[in-house]
Amino acid sequence: MKKLLTLLLSFVFINAGFILQTPAQRLPKIPNLSGKVLTVMGPIEPSALGTTLMHEHIFINFKPPPPMFPAPTNITVIEPPPTDPKKRQGLTSFDQSLGAIMDFKNIGGGTIVDVSQFGLMRDPLALKLVSRASGLNVVMGSGFYMRQLHPPDMDKLSLEQLTEIIVRDIAVGAQGTDIRSGIIGEVGVVGKPLTPNELKSVRASARASRLTGAPMSIHNFEPLDEMLQVLDIIESEGVDLHHVVMSHTGGRDVKTMEALFDRGVYVEWDFMGLAPLPKKADEQRIESIFAMIQAGHAKQMILSHDVCIPSQLKVNGGGGYTYIHDIIIPGLKAKGVSDDVIKTIMEENPRSVLTFTAPRSVVKQKKKMK
Ligand SMILES: [Zn+2]
Repeated sequence: MKKLLTLLLSFVFINAGFILQTPAQRLPKIPNLSGKVLTVMGPIEPSALGTTLMHEHIFINFKPPPPMFPAPTNITVIEPPPTDPKKRQGLTSFDQSLGAIMDFKNIGGGTIVDVSQFGLMRDPLALKLVSRASGLNVVMGSGFYMRQLHPPDMDKLSLEQLTEIIVRDIAVGAQGTDIRSGIIGEVGVVGKPLTPNELKSVRASARASRLTGAPMSIHNFEPLDEMLQVLDIIESEGVDLHHVVMSHTGGRDVKTMEALFDRGVYVEWDFMGLAPLPKKADEQRIESIFAMIQAGHAKQMILSHDVCIPSQLKVNGGGGYTYIHDIIIPGLKAKGVSDDVIKTIMEENPRSVLTFTAPRSVVKQKKKMK
């Protein structure tokens, strides 16, 4: 009888899967990728990265994502061309995206980080194919996007379940493939106020970062005090903030940027090159970047385009994936910024962020978690 009960119970446990197992049992074996960068083709040496765009979307689709359970495995971002090209939302054409990133390859670009994750219809296979076809290194994102695009079952998902999903993307492969994420992000935070699901997503991302050694990129639109609260959570999970990029924060007021630099994170200028392009150089942006270089922050600065809508592509009159090289870098050089500083921002900082640290065990939380 006891045997039967055990058998019955184990059957229930197996089938209830994620709900009944303890977090320690659920986590896959985590490889030690310390000192490597993880691309969609596998781990590579950091010295192979070259000039790197830290925040782009080669493919993206703003459709509401499906639930996380049962785990979706057949997401594809590629869609047949719409009859009216102006109606295309997101970036969903393989050929168009390949052509667009080839511009970056052709000016000597080395690596693109695609921070689409589950909520932006991340397509691991398309990213691997486009990496192979272009010859560019592609690093794929993980985690959960803005709350408007959380999966419909987000309320029910526990911190441990979210952590497991992210860890699997990095340790095993995303969405049923063996293609692995090399960065956790962009982790969506909207704030005003921060919601329980956002806090859960941030904490799970930080925990997964600690467990795997993967870097993080946070999508920020919230005010400074909420950003600092997010950083407190990440730090409380034992993540070194020098492994964290604060996307969309470059170009904010100086006080905000200085407060972020003080915490050790990277401040990222992004989302640029929208059609119609300005007739004069992108003066305000160049000025803001230059001011922060002058203030001594070059070692914590990141520049990327955040290409995510069709009007940023060159075929539609935008700046594409080379706007920084075509407009921003010449603008900075005209102000006297040296090649060394440009190299720090475009090569060395991305290399430092993307290089994995050793996996570590979860930090025991003393206080009740927020
Ligand atoms: Zn973003």
